[in-house]
Amino acid sequence: MRITGVTCHVLLDPGYERDATSSNQDDIVVEVHTDEGITGIGETDLNAWVARACIEAPGMHTMDLGLGETLVGMDPLDPVAVWDSLYVGTAMTGRRGAVVHALGALDMALWDICGKAAGVPTWQLLGEPAHDFFAPYASLLPNRGDSWDDFSQALVDQAAWAQRLGFRAAKLEILVTGPYAHSGLREPDERMVEIVAGVRRAVGPDFTIMVDVAYAWESVERALAVIESWAEYDIFFVETPLWADDLEGYAELARRSPIKIAAGEWLATRYEFLDLMDRGLIDVAQPDVGRVGGLTEARRVCDLAAERGRLVVPHGWKTGITIAATAHLAAVTPHMPFFEFVPQSVAESALRRELVVDELELVDGLLALPQKPGLGIELNREALERFEEAARKRQP
Ligand SMILES: [Mg+2]
Repeated sequence: MRITGVTCHVLLDPGYERDATSSNQDDIVVEVHTDEGITGIGETDLNAWVARACIEAPGMHTMDLGLGETLVGMDPLDPVAVWDSLYVGTAMTGRRGAVVHALGALDMALWDICGKAAGVPTWQLLGEPAHDFFAPYASLLPNRGDSWDDFSQALVDQAAWAQRLGFRAAKLEILVTGPYAHSGLREPDERMVEIVAGVRRAVGPDFTIMVDVAYAWESVERALAVIESWAEYDIFFVETPLWADDLEGYAELARRSPIKIAAGEWLATRYEFLDLMDRGLIDVAQPDVGRVGGLTEARRVCDLAAERGRLVVPHGWKTGITIAATAHLAAVTPHMPFFEFVPQSVAESALRRELVVDELELVDGLLALPQKPGLGIELNREALERFEEAARKRQP
């Protein structure tokens, strides 16, 4: 089998808000076509226009190949060899960042093709099944609430609602301070514990709570003062407490924090995760399957985390495509107790709600192993065209 071409779809939620802290309002979806009529689907999490440029730009020399044009003619049934070859071939523009994130969408599509060609769900090609069922956590980022009271009440309400849906875990996006604070909220750190305590009261003791503060604090001391005040509420991890480049800070915080430290949503390649784990000493690695470089690279990160006794709880803020890819990875990863899941019914983004039909269904808070061939995704073509049209209109 040979790859015959790549189609890039740049998509936009017509109702997007430029001031929102949410990366699922735009999307790049790729379709990789083959000479046997099988098409693979992938997506990744970065600016969709930049992603398309990374894939469609022509190659200029041997250290700067074009991702899309190089892929044509290659064997889609050997994604690891394709990944290694494209990584080396694009190294002068790539190696990290946008090009690796874009490569992630293509790699995801190749694994979809592999499963479809073999007539098996992709996870069967990734490894041995590690669970019969696995647990997504509900990722809660209320868009409501321009005041502290509204915002904190919205988080408490959403956590209780997630529990009623059957979820066993939820992550609170307590974005009330720092560079990505919600709707310009600026609250003193001491008040954050009110939300943590309120949610714990609402959901009771047998529900897992995680907290994301989106790089809120500039120092270990400031982070530690708040985290210590949460210790009595049994928080599973605190996500991205410090700026992404402050690996010395992460190491010190990880040594002193009573709660596990999680990070890694922005990273590309296993090499950045090695830095985060070996220098930053984080407890929980959070690769985004697309951004890190696709299923090929995400699996390598999982292996490196296992060797170090760390957990993996992937980031996933895009559509049902990323959720499906993450579910297939979870299926073969024993040290992945949860993965991120924005429930369709609560997502602000129309893209998240409408792009993929027939998503995996939550039963008693758990997802069963996917059974359809490949990643098992079907796109809603009408929605795809509508979101593509919205993106064309946004084009300057
Ligand atoms: Mg996050």
